[in-house]
Amino acid sequence: MGATEDAAARSVIAGQKPEGIAGRGTSIPRVAGRREWTRETLAAGVRAGDKRALARAITLVENRDALAYELVREIYPDTGRAYCIGVTGPPGVGKSSLISALIRHVRGQERSVGVISVDPSSPFSHGALLGDRIRLADHFLDPGVFIRSMGTRGHLGGLAEATLQALLVLDAAGKDLLFLETVGAGQSEVEVIGIADTVLLVLMPGSGDSVQALKAGIMEIPDVIAVNKMDHPAAKTMVNEVRSILTLDKEREWKPPIVLTEAVRGENVKTLWQKLEAHRSFLEQHDELEARRRRNLAGEVFAVASSRAKTHLENAVADDPELRRLLDEVQRRELDPLTAVREIMEKVFKLDGGEEI
Ligand code: GDP
Repeated sequence: MGATEDAAARSVIAGQKPEGIAGRGTSIPRVAGRREWTRETLAAGVRAGDKRALARAITLVENRDALAYELVREIYPDTGRAYCIGVTGPPGVGKSSLISALIRHVRGQERSVGVISVDPSSPFSHGALLGDRIRLADHFLDPGVFIRSMGTRGHLGGLAEATLQALLVLDAAGKDLLFLETVGAGQSEVEVIGIADTVLLVLMPGSGDSVQALKAGIMEIPDVIAVNKMDHPAAKTMVNEVRSILTLDKEREWKPPIVLTEAVRGENVKTLWQKLEAHRSFLEQHDELEARRRRNLAGEVFAVASSRAKTHLENAVADDPELRRLLDEVQRRELDPLTAVREIMEKVFKLDGGEEI
């Protein structure tokens, strides 16, 4: 059955326009896909949940186009309604298959869904995650589901920023539920997933590295853990290992549940969904959801501002011979490093010389 699904998915994908999923296989005239969007038409299209508008808006976000900033500024008051589930874990554990199974489950409850798949190691955006798209392909034609992959386009700082903007676009489009999928468990993925309301970590039996990562505390963020491919003989061992690591964290009020799943056949997906919902209820009952969102957004704003300030500083120094001269003087030991810092800060950020540096 999996093979048939994959074959069908491939043919669907082959016929897909690079722009994304929008408009494929419909009678929408070609020119419509290329029409010039204005802020108004784009905002209206996004609010209406139009797939072409969503695809265009996210491309603009990825390209850091000025129109994307204007769009998000306009639609921002309409956001904050979608619930975002971050899904992370090493490649190949079954994240996409599990998301696909979860979508099938929640679509039965008439909830609309958006998926953003982020691969920090991939420089490409369109079609970069062909594998993911194949697994998610049975949802491509569902008008209540929007799926999009994003790559880094060269620099990581921009990925967290683009992810946030893309999620806001889908939120304003009225999606009830957003899945944010990231590959791996490194710092950059943690930064990207930091915006999610609930984080699901997917592991599979035998992925010892993930257990190490858990131990090292990198993955202290999961709220729910799925041990997928449960038919594997080592599945129970994996659960026990993960459980013993989690008991080390006594501080946390919410104890992350561990669920054994089989994503391809959809086994225990309902239980997994119940655990994800239970985490949401926990947050809501403890007034934690708003607090968590405030923290996440503040963290996001601060991270983006810091990254921009750094770029600004680097450009300013590169463009200003006087500032470059300061660096040369430091190198020649004519000027001490912190005096150079003070002078740079004064000049670039107009900070008062008396301020702490
Ligand atoms: P991702 O890289 O984490 O998104 O993993 P995928 O969802 O692309 O799955 C990787 C491979 O594992 C695919 O060939 C899936 O068909 C397969 N797979 C996913 N979940 C299961 C499962 O529960 N059991 C088995 N046996 N295979 C699975």
